[in-house]
Amino acid sequence: MEKSFEKRGLAKKSENISDWYNDVVLRAGLCDYTDVKGSMIIKPYGYSIWENIQKELDQKFKNDGVQNCYFPMLIPMSLILKEKEHVEGFAPELLTVDKIGKEELNDPLVLRPTSETIMYKAFANWIQGYRDLPIKINQWCNIFRAEKRTYPFIRTSEFLWQEGHCAFSNKEDNLQMVFKALNWYKEVYEDFLGISVYLGLKSQSEKFAGAKNTYSIEIVTPNGKALQAGTSHDLSDNFSKAFGVNFVDEKGEKQNVFQDSFGLSTRSIAALVLAHGDDSGLVIPPRVAPIQVVIIPITKKNQDNNMINDFSNKVEKVLKDKGIRVFVDNNDIHSLGYKINEWELKGVPIRIEVGNNEVEKQIVKLVRRDDFSKQDVEINDVEDKINCVLEDIQNNLFKKSEELKEQKTKNADNYDDFKKLIDEGYFVRSYFCEEKECEAKIKEETKAVTRCLEFDQMNDDDIDGKCIYCGKKAKHKWLFGKSY
Ligand SMILES: [Zn+2]
Repeated sequence: MEKSFEKRGLAKKSENISDWYNDVVLRAGLCDYTDVKGSMIIKPYGYSIWENIQKELDQKFKNDGVQNCYFPMLIPMSLILKEKEHVEGFAPELLTVDKIGKEELNDPLVLRPTSETIMYKAFANWIQGYRDLPIKINQWCNIFRAEKRTYPFIRTSEFLWQEGHCAFSNKEDNLQMVFKALNWYKEVYEDFLGISVYLGLKSQSEKFAGAKNTYSIEIVTPNGKALQAGTSHDLSDNFSKAFGVNFVDEKGEKQNVFQDSFGLSTRSIAALVLAHGDDSGLVIPPRVAPIQVVIIPITKKNQDNNMINDFSNKVEKVLKDKGIRVFVDNNDIHSLGYKINEWELKGVPIRIEVGNNEVEKQIVKLVRRDDFSKQDVEINDVEDKINCVLEDIQNNLFKKSEELKEQKTKNADNYDDFKKLIDEGYFVRSYFCEEKECEAKIKEETKAVTRCLEFDQMNDDDIDGKCIYCGKKAKHKWLFGKSY
């Protein structure tokens, strides 16, 4: 009874992915609703996933000498107004504080939509000579961008992220950092979260407001929609001109610095949920999983359970000593069926069951979350076997994600095919003239926009392509898709 009660109401991913998504993030305990419109609560299970992503990324930053810091959340409006393109891009999303008590502020304060402005004002003071460069800093913080249509972790008016900000004396070093950051994100998605990604250049209409160029990580969801899942911006000297961030070089001449910024947010959790989950709930790749192995002792009310509990604790200790994240579920209120559903819903990679039979034979029953396959493992082999299965689950999930990305991407060489494929839920790769007006028309007619120009599509300038929409000369094939 409990089993069917638990499962009832969870929409099927294969039938309605957006209902499924909303159900699963709530019921697996990742997040909750709140009275604050457009915002959400990140619950402990969701937050522990974020902490694991943070640890992974933070280590990459630190290994490269990027240092963490913290800037105020409130930014004077006068600072935001300094870079023209920047303010135009963010104006509709800004949340503003214009009063303290009853006193109206002459210069209202903006809840940070990103921190370029306040940081670069400080950079202008910190940087005088070439010896003050480079600066490589990062902050982990919250961000406010008002959203009308919100989805948990995908689009909320407040979210968590990291923003890296660097300043260099020359273009080359700056550009190298832009690509280094983008590559860290690729590694986090592919090696840690098990998600195959696209990466490349954003179009001029889709780039970050104020950047010279934006490069992004793009993810194809199982219904063929797009998630922009990390960005790295070449700000060139756009902000340093606006904020007077300059330095005296070795020859005694004043120069503007070159800058970049890069960000990855809690949207990465949405990518994780959408990429791997199934009709039973979340499926979390072992490397990011807050709990990698759950042990369920199958105890009974009318028997002595000491042997079962001792055996479970022994297995727990063996795994813990090997650094495996393990949890023993010895709650005695819920039935076995309820517990199994609950841990499947939470996507724990491996479940171990220990009952009388297992104690007697000195084995454990091991169940994989990714394919539900079961096997008996002898107690002496348990740590080796678990490590091996965790590795296999990680690889299996990435492989599936890679296959999905390939399946959900098609090429089109005429506009009719393009429209049809976009409608059916695909990423479409097509020649595009790179004109803003043309991209706007395509968006108006199909709701699809350019996702990025992949790096391996960049060096084909001699090919004489024709734009999918206007028929004008097009140098490159761009990836198009609808936003999730
Ligand atoms: Zn065109």
